[in-house]
Amino acid sequence: MGTAPAAVPCPDCGAVSTRTFSAPMLARIPTAVSKQLQRAERSASEPEVVTSLPQRRTRGAVAIHPATRRLPRP
Ligand SMILES: [Zn+2]
Repeated sequence: MGTAPAAVPCPDCGAVSTRTFSAPMLARIPTAVSKQLQRAERSASEPEVVTSLPQRRTRGAVAIHPATRRLPRP
């Protein structure tokens, strides 16, 4: 232990790069991405329960093609 030099030359350009330390086994990803990943993992074993229906989309949000205008609607 402790045999690594404090700085080593870059194999490409030869510039000196200093040694940096970071916490092991910790992902350095944005918080929003981390939360979504945790939510996806959680939903595999304990999915969120839906208690109400999603709100209906308002008409007109989807463009209706003129050829299908006279077809029956649900
Ligand atoms: Zn370099």
